[in-house]
Amino acid sequence: MKQAIGLAAVICFLTSFSFAQDANPAPKIVAVKAAHLVDVKAGRVLDQQIVLITGDKIERVGAANGFAVPAGATVIDLGSATLLPGLIDCHVHLTSDPEDSGLRALEISVPREALTGAKNARLTLEAGFTTVRNVGAKGYSDVALRDAIEAGDLPGPRMMVSGPALGITGGHCDENHLAPEFNYHDEAVADGVSAVMAKTREVIKYRADVIKFCASGGVFSKGDLPGSEQYSPAEMSAIVTEAHRLGRKVAAHAHGSLAIVDASNAGVDSIEHGSLTDEEGIRAMKRNGTYLVADIYNDDFILGEGKKYGFTDEMITKERSIGRQQREGFRKAALAGVKLAFGTDAGVYPHGDNAKQFAYMVKYGLTPIQAIQSATVNAADLLGWSDRVGSIEPGKFADLIAVEGNPLTNVTVLEHVKFVMTGGHIVKNELGK
Ligand SMILES: [Zn+2]
Repeated sequence: MKQAIGLAAVICFLTSFSFAQDANPAPKIVAVKAAHLVDVKAGRVLDQQIVLITGDKIERVGAANGFAVPAGATVIDLGSATLLPGLIDCHVHLTSDPEDSGLRALEISVPREALTGAKNARLTLEAGFTTVRNVGAKGYSDVALRDAIEAGDLPGPRMMVSGPALGITGGHCDENHLAPEFNYHDEAVADGVSAVMAKTREVIKYRADVIKFCASGGVFSKGDLPGSEQYSPAEMSAIVTEAHRLGRKVAAHAHGSLAIVDASNAGVDSIEHGSLTDEEGIRAMKRNGTYLVADIYNDDFILGEGKKYGFTDEMITKERSIGRQQREGFRKAALAGVKLAFGTDAGVYPHGDNAKQFAYMVKYGLTPIQAIQSATVNAADLLGWSDRVGSIEPGKFADLIAVEGNPLTNVTVLEHVKFVMTGGHIVKNELGK
């Protein structure tokens, strides 16, 4: 044993010089070349482009013709493919799967949730989503997952996380399956102005990046109505004031019209779902500059596959009552010029299928580039991360994806992402040399 330690010490000594050098290696220089590149800000496709990457950031972007690639750079030629910035999903639940709903959720421990999250983080990244906002997870499993990805322990997207979502007793963000004698409520249940202020501070204490609260009832909860408001305007204002004071944005789950109007007027940064919005809700979101994050794909999954995944009759009936109206509301909101950010509620349907929503956004009123902007520049703006993600520009993280074909004429090519890079690291490459 002693000998082994002695030998290890000698090896350490002999190699310490090279370790010291390795601690600060010269940043790797990579040039990614492709026949097309989507300039998401200008809304157009540029031909024959090169993206020069130093370390984890983009250094320069320009036409291949006359582009001086530094000597020693690794060149990745993606041929005829189209480059885009890594996509952003503003509403996911990486730590849960569709089959984890209802009573089954009670069997799943927080550590198990975190491991489910590790699986789904990889699937999401490989699907081309290099950034996500995770809005609701048990036991801060999302904080743990974010930190593990940041530490390089696991592959996954950059995560902005909320921890547990605030909600009223017996509401959408409470656990209502247990009999009274269990005396159980979800960890972020808070009633009344002072209680919601305290809970907002507590969630931030445990390192949430964003605050999520349930302004209305929901589909995947027992005994409440999606259309009814749950928090009062005074409670919503208290959450928003406290979160903004502490430098956090706020996402409000809101299906019903009254909840949408009151949450928007309370100053939330985004309305999630927005299913039953009326003219007043659209006017409020427009006036207040509130983003709408409408998950308009998953209705098909819930109604088509829900039974197979163990969704209860109550869940399916509720979805049937709001899903199609949500799509019409989305169309009206888009037409009215409400700010839109891409969010799918992945977790309600299988992770990795996030991009299936693009076609629905186009079907319900957006042009393909508008749908792409909702998942890039707009989403980055909602997150407050416009300085780091959402477009292919110098200074931003080298988060890139590539597809075959032109997503501006056929947005479904985004369902088959062939190349993924995050922070200069290649995660997937089915194209290049
Ligand atoms: Zn959700």
